[in-house]
Amino acid sequence: MQKEKPNIRTIDEAGLKDWLKVQGEKPFRAKQIREWLWKKHATTFDEMTSLSIDLRTRMKEHFRLPALQVSQLQKSRDNTIKVGFRLEDNLLVEGVLIPSAGRYTACISSQLGCALGCRFCATARLGLNRNLHFDEIFDQVALLEKICREHYQQEKLDNIVLMGMGEPLQNYENVIKAIELFTGKEGPGYSPSRITLSTVGIIKGIERLADDKVKFNLAISLHAATDEKRSEIIPVNRKNNLEALGRSLKYFHDKTGTRITLEYVLMDGFNDHPEDAAKLALFCKQFPCKINLIPYNPVEGAPYKTSDEIRTLRFKTLLEKRNLVVNIRQSRGADIEAACGQLASTHKKPGLRGKSGRPGTKTT
Ligand code: SAH
Repeated sequence: MQKEKPNIRTIDEAGLKDWLKVQGEKPFRAKQIREWLWKKHATTFDEMTSLSIDLRTRMKEHFRLPALQVSQLQKSRDNTIKVGFRLEDNLLVEGVLIPSAGRYTACISSQLGCALGCRFCATARLGLNRNLHFDEIFDQVALLEKICREHYQQEKLDNIVLMGMGEPLQNYENVIKAIELFTGKEGPGYSPSRITLSTVGIIKGIERLADDKVKFNLAISLHAATDEKRSEIIPVNRKNNLEALGRSLKYFHDKTGTRITLEYVLMDGFNDHPEDAAKLALFCKQFPCKINLIPYNPVEGAPYKTSDEIRTLRFKTLLEKRNLVVNIRQSRGADIEAACGQLASTHKKPGLRGKSGRPGTKTT
C-alpha cells in the first residue's frame, strides 16, 4: 500500500546514504536527491533526471513522495492571491501571496486550524485539526514562489511570514525545520532576515527561540497592553501575561540582538483610546521594537469594529510622540477573505459562506 512506504522527504542525508549503500549506489547521490527535493522541488521521482531510471524505479518502490497540491486559487482586486493547498490526507490549508510596491510576501500556515481561541480571529473558529509537518510548511513556500513566477514574473519571494493559520510556537520543531530548509544551502537559500515568525506570545517558545539564537525576525500579536483587555480577546494571555511576555521579549532581544515587531490590531472603542497608546508605549520601553498598527478585519459574529482613520492616526501620533517607530499596515486581500485573521473560508461549507459569488476562484 502506498501509505506504508516512508516519506522520502523525512529522511536526512545520512539516512539516504545508508539506503543508497544497500542499493549499491554511490553516497554522493544523497546530495543529489536532497537537491531535487528541496532546491528543485521535484514532486515525482521521474523528474529526478540526474539519477538513473533504475535508481528512480527503486526509489519509487521504497518511498513515497507526498507534495502539497494547489487546490484553489483566488486573486483579489488588489492582486493578493489566496491559495488552498491540499495535503496528503486531503485536508486543506491556506497560504497567501501578497504583492506590495513591487515586493512579494508569502504568508504561510503552521497548523491546520488553531487552538488559541482568539476572539477576533476567524481561524480560531476552526479549532485545531493538526500540526503541519515540516515538508508541508516548506511546500507552501515552494508553491507560492512558483505562483509568484507564473503570475508576477518574479523569480524569488521578498519575504516569508508565518502569519497564516495556526500558532507556530505550538509546532516548534516542524516550524524550525522548515525555516532551516528555506534558509539552508540545500533549499532555496532565503536569508533569515527575510523571514518573520509571528506568535501570540507563548513565553516558553519565545525563550526557546532565544536559546536557539534564531536569526529570523520575531513578531508578537499584542493587540492590547493591559492584562484585562488582552485576556478578554486572547485567552492564552492568562497563562502568558504581559509582565512575563515583556521579560521573555527582553531575553529574546538580549540573546539575538534582533529588534522585535509588535502587531497591534486596532479595534474601535476597545483598544484605541489614548490611555491604550500610553500603556502600549510603556510596554515597548522594555526592548527595541517597532509597532505595526493593523486594521481590524471584521469577522462574522465577533463584537469588534474597525477603528476609523481619525482614531488610527491619533493612536499613531501618540506613540510617535513617545519616540516609537510605528507603521500603519494596509489590509490586503479582504475581498477574498485572505486578510489577517480571515483564513478559514476554504473550510466553510458552501452554504455557510458569508459572501455570494467568488470571482476568480479556480478549483481544481
Ligand atoms: N498565531 C500567530 C500567527 C497568526 S498571525 C499569532 O497570533 O501571531 C495572524 C495575525 O492576524 C495575528 O497577528 C492575528 O492576531 C491577526 N488577526 C487575527 N484576526 C484578525 C482580524 N480579524 N483582523 C486583523 N488581524 C487579525
